[in-house]
Amino acid sequence: MSNCAIVGINWGDEGKGRMVDLLTERYDVVVRFQGGGNAGHTVENDLGKFALHLLPSGIFRSGVMNILGNGVALDPENLMTEIEEVRSKGVSITPDNLMISDRASLLGPWHRDMDELEEMRLKDKKYGSTKQGIAPFYSDKHQKKTVLAGELFYPEKLMAHLIDIMEWKNLTLELVYGYKPYTLEQIEKWVNESCEKIKPFVADTGAYLKNASESGKQILFEAQLGSLRDLDYGIYPYTTSSNTMAAYAPIGSGFPAAKIDDVIGVCKAYSTCVGEGPFVCEMSGEEAEKLREAGNEYGAKTGRPRRVGPIDLVASRYGVEVQVATEVALTKLDVLSCMDEIPVCTKYIVDGKETDRFPFPLALEDAKPVIEYVKGWKKDISGVREFSELPEEAQDYVIMIEKAIGCPISYVSVGPERESIIIRK
Ligand code: GDP
Repeated sequence: MSNCAIVGINWGDEGKGRMVDLLTERYDVVVRFQGGGNAGHTVENDLGKFALHLLPSGIFRSGVMNILGNGVALDPENLMTEIEEVRSKGVSITPDNLMISDRASLLGPWHRDMDELEEMRLKDKKYGSTKQGIAPFYSDKHQKKTVLAGELFYPEKLMAHLIDIMEWKNLTLELVYGYKPYTLEQIEKWVNESCEKIKPFVADTGAYLKNASESGKQILFEAQLGSLRDLDYGIYPYTTSSNTMAAYAPIGSGFPAAKIDDVIGVCKAYSTCVGEGPFVCEMSGEEAEKLREAGNEYGAKTGRPRRVGPIDLVASRYGVEVQVATEVALTKLDVLSCMDEIPVCTKYIVDGKETDRFPFPLALEDAKPVIEYVKGWKKDISGVREFSELPEEAQDYVIMIEKAIGCPISYVSVGPERESIIIRK
């Protein structure tokens, strides 16, 4: 029996969703253990093309149980919209293939309001939030000012709890931001219309996972975003508000006894970053535009153009190290087929000195990249399925990355479709 976590090595958008979709074939349960609907996993399979935000990417495989663990930011309104969208393309989503932890905290519309109001207050110092309420949500959770999904089974206690919380929340909305307070009617509407709809999915998922594990079922833990957005290990404060690390999976999934045998770090063959914050290897101008177009680098949630750059070996090595990745899936290699010469960020210059160590977040702001160029292959590789059939330059590129990050690259993805994959083991 072996469990696996699929996590991001970079800034997110590495293609974790496509790897989970591919690998769910081998797993019985897929669990999302952190984050909310603020990012998107794009999955293309025989059922169509989907942008998932909160739903686990195992939702397309029949026989797979998908779980939203206690560590996620569970927005009932947005989750139901997403469920309806996916269902409209013929995917069945019922309590037989989706469960929500009764210990997951609920994200309310006031969290989204707070996110927007704070970004507005910050003006040009904003974090570039997707305004899905994630930061206000996690900060409320840590202040013990959220309600849990399981409270939906205790309607009277739930309402009393919510009224207390909103009395407190309204103070901030009104006095700090000059915003209108939430009324009792609005809160009741949210409970009766949005929360009621998720109730059939809410269960003791901790017990389910324990039983599943004891009966020999294989569990896949799915992360959102990447190492560099981790609250503790990322480019703070331009991080997300949860832990994107494989090490957090046992806690955020609701299965603290989980033994994770395999950590697959998903790493992009070049770099992208959405939102604000230091991005040392960032490219600009025509070269950047060409790469953005070739990789279709526009956010799945917001449509925002992603910032792009060459693969950053310094950041990727750090990403592998903090995720404790046992193997790497290198994605989007096909996108680089358009380049005569491929730039690679091999080191940083920090305080006038070259380094291959990822520095403290504040030092990143003045760090400069050392860029080297390797020969491109200039051939369409999207149909290749064997590593030895890749052009030599492409093989060399993969091997160069493997050596630099110190982790075996077992998967090379050459297209967004499920089957566009080279397996090297
Ligand atoms: P995630 O959040 O890590 O799942 O990543 P996103 O879904 O935000 O971004 C990855 C994007 O790249 C999606 O649009 C995928 O369909 C696409 N993609 C994934 N792997 C490949 C690949 O190997 N080649 C190409 N061309 N696109 C890919």
